[in-house]
Amino acid sequence: AQDALQRIQSSAQLNAFVDVQPELTLAQARAADERLARGETGALLGIPCGHKDIFVTRGWASTAASNMLKGYVSPFDAEVVDRLNKAGSVSLGKLNCDEFAMGSSNEKSAHGPCLNPWDTQAVPGGSSGGSAVAVAAGLVPFATGTDTGGSIRQPASLCGITGIKPTYGSCSRYGMIAYASSLDQAGPMARSAKDCALVLNHMVGFDPKDSTVVERPAEDFAAQLGQPRATASLDQPLKGLRIGLPVEFFGEGLADDVRKPIDEALTHLKQLGAELVDISLPRTKLSIPAYYVIAPAEASSNLSRFDGVRYGHRAEQYTDLKSMYENSRSEGFGLEVQRRIMVGAYVLSHGYYDAYYLQAQKVRRLIAQDFQAAFTQCDLIAGPVSPTVAWNLGEKSANPTQMYLADIYTLGASLAGLPGMSVPVGFGDKNRPVGMQLIGNYFRESELLQTADWYQ
Ligand code: GLN
Repeated sequence: AQDALQRIQSSAQLNAFVDVQPELTLAQARAADERLARGETGALLGIPCGHKDIFVTRGWASTAASNMLKGYVSPFDAEVVDRLNKAGSVSLGKLNCDEFAMGSSNEKSAHGPCLNPWDTQAVPGGSSGGSAVAVAAGLVPFATGTDTGGSIRQPASLCGITGIKPTYGSCSRYGMIAYASSLDQAGPMARSAKDCALVLNHMVGFDPKDSTVVERPAEDFAAQLGQPRATASLDQPLKGLRIGLPVEFFGEGLADDVRKPIDEALTHLKQLGAELVDISLPRTKLSIPAYYVIAPAEASSNLSRFDGVRYGHRAEQYTDLKSMYENSRSEGFGLEVQRRIMVGAYVLSHGYYDAYYLQAQKVRRLIAQDFQAAFTQCDLIAGPVSPTVAWNLGEKSANPTQMYLADIYTLGASLAGLPGMSVPVGFGDKNRPVGMQLIGNYFRESELLQTADWYQ
């Protein structure tokens, strides 16, 4: 823990950690030492980590990277944080992200942008940029992230680490500051599939405090690692695995320097015994408009609580109740958050609801059906995470549509609630990392992790 604290200090220019409280960290480390001294064991006992600033935490500030929640300290821990604390992990503090998890570059943070450790001219991706950077820079072995439309997978890809978003309903959202509740899901970000599996074991589980968590028997996500598939042998451990390649994921728009390492990774998977099959996810393009209607709609509802009365920053200057709301929300929320609230309020408003929100929900259902049709032909789906390697800081920040288009490959699995992961497969232009995405059917995290682990 002391080492990690020192590394965080010497890497302060990356702006990954936004709240560090050494005395809290060292107290957790001492408690873990005592448990170890008593002979307790556990994969996470004494292991340093960091938490995305979307999770509320006791002791550390919980701001969702927003001025709206500046200085806020929660009286309780998010369920996922609580589980990881109980497993004995040692928190180094809170990690930078896009404000309220809205973004793909970690530039929209009240704490300022976070830098990609491979190339500090480049964005780390987002919204869980700080989590990806903390792992990629070797500050902590793992971090928590959240993924609404790609926010674990995309920064993992752009920073060359491994991250998994489990099936919607796997991890409790209790204490995760809500963005779009029907999409938000927590997951681990780490150096390898194995590390992700060990962390996921302690994140997943039933929680009566979140009505969308699924009650299932506990699963050991690490159990199958290093084992060949049921029908396979050690020389061809992935024999029997059909990997679907959606034609829409490899078409126009995918940069050549991203395609190349992914093609090589697919060849490697083939050598391990997997069979590659061509599939189609015909509504891939529609995932962008559907997501960017549904997510802002839910956000406009979730963020209505930050009114300067019940929650959040209150403006000093106002003349009446309306101007108090107006000034508080204009000062507290950044421009991207304000844009999403306005879009969301619009698509939910009387007269537009049927044309936009309801229509987007129908498209969402069709996208989920496309995945189920694809899973009759394959066991897993593989493709890119991001159409390009990390772009330069500032390159897309003036153009929100450009930023939204970069989410093309991750939004589908989010809308369908499917598990997805990013596996580092090499480097593209300017030596910037490339990740391959693996998408599985519901609750097939073990199969994703097993496949990624054999590849790694
Ligand atoms: N880039 C997407 C958005 O801005 C996804 C963010 C996320 O997954 N939290 O909404």
